[in-house]
Amino acid sequence: MYEIYADLHVHIGRSESNKPIKITAARSLNFANIAKECVERKGINLVGIIDCASPYVIEDIENFLATGEAYEIPDGGIIYKDKVCIILGSEIETSEINDEGKTGSAHNLCYFPTLNDIKAFSNEMRGHIKNITLSSQRADISAYELIDIVTKYNGILVPAHCFTPHKSFYGNCTDSLRKIFKEKYDLIPAIELGLSSDTFLADQISELETKTFLTNSDAHSLPKIAREYNKMQLGGISFKEFIMALKNEEGRKIIANYGLDPKLGKYHRTYCEVCDKRIPGDAPVTRCLECESKNITMGVYDRIEIIKDKKETQSPEIRPEYVYQIPLTFIPGLGGKTIDKLLDHFGTEMTILHKLSNDDIEGVVGSKIAKNIISARDGKMHIVEGGGGVYGKVE
Ligand SMILES: [Zn+2]
Ligand SMILES: [Zn+2]
Repeated sequence: MYEIYADLHVHIGRSESNKPIKITAARSLNFANIAKECVERKGINLVGIIDCASPYVIEDIENFLATGEAYEIPDGGIIYKDKVCIILGSEIETSEINDEGKTGSAHNLCYFPTLNDIKAFSNEMRGHIKNITLSSQRADISAYELIDIVTKYNGILVPAHCFTPHKSFYGNCTDSLRKIFKEKYDLIPAIELGLSSDTFLADQISELETKTFLTNSDAHSLPKIAREYNKMQLGGISFKEFIMALKNEEGRKIIANYGLDPKLGKYHRTYCEVCDKRIPGDAPVTRCLECESKNITMGVYDRIEIIKDKKETQSPEIRPEYVYQIPLTFIPGLGGKTIDKLLDHFGTEMTILHKLSNDDIEGVVGSKIAKNIISARDGKMHIVEGGGGVYGKVE
């Protein structure tokens, strides 16, 4: 068995022919660059690229394979430099009817073993999506229907960032995933926690006890890859091994989730859009305490407070540890140049965040930054909670 690092939610900005895939994502975020970044700077061994159903991206993948630099393997996935396995994925927004009978939207991560499978999936989804070339587009079907299409092409469905206010199941569709998936609920091996939540929050909901938790970056630019990731125990890197880990089969499993302190996430607490600020206090509210407006963006923490059915966090025995990490970009005093310097010296961000001593870091970037990195690692920094689309801040 091997211990490997996995980030299963990375977006593509543009195709190599410069066609837009995800408008809000960086241009440098193309298929080949993601593979290289994972190998050279991040130390990621399994990466889920989530815009692979776009015909432009499919074209890029075909060209990348034709160079011989990367190749598909029989157990599924694409191997690059023998070090990273790329999992082909697609993020689909489904149309749901929420618990109040209104329209809801949720994001779903769909992963497939081969290029042929995701091509066939893409072809079928053309009939349900207006613009199949773009990322995370809305389909005219529900997740209950989508999961059948995913399964038909040998894929697996994982609810994405499942508590966020605008595009997620718990965020604006339902208080129970079982209501959405009904008798197909057991076909979902895992959920993605999202940046604004963690294991301790999610394990207040009993129906999630049987689900594996994924911590992924949802990166829209190369530096953000691995701001959250999973440490897994696998027999090798492939789609098959990845699925076995999600299902806890034959010793394959997630050993640890590495994620932001959820307070840093941009939807952690409820935000008043009229007053343009975080609504203070610990208790969840459905309207602003100051202006009484209902035009609020519900925080993930608050939403979980409302829908939870346990008095306190109780994690099932198989639940791995959750390790907080503060990525380099969040640490005060650290600009792009300093980060490059650190990476040039020490290899990957993971090494810097979790392994190096104060002296090692100090030798390269000085005592002040070294102290901040170590304090962040030890949880000694003060965090101002995020909300309403604004990230939390480390002070
Ligand atoms: Zn999403
Ligand atoms: Zn207000």
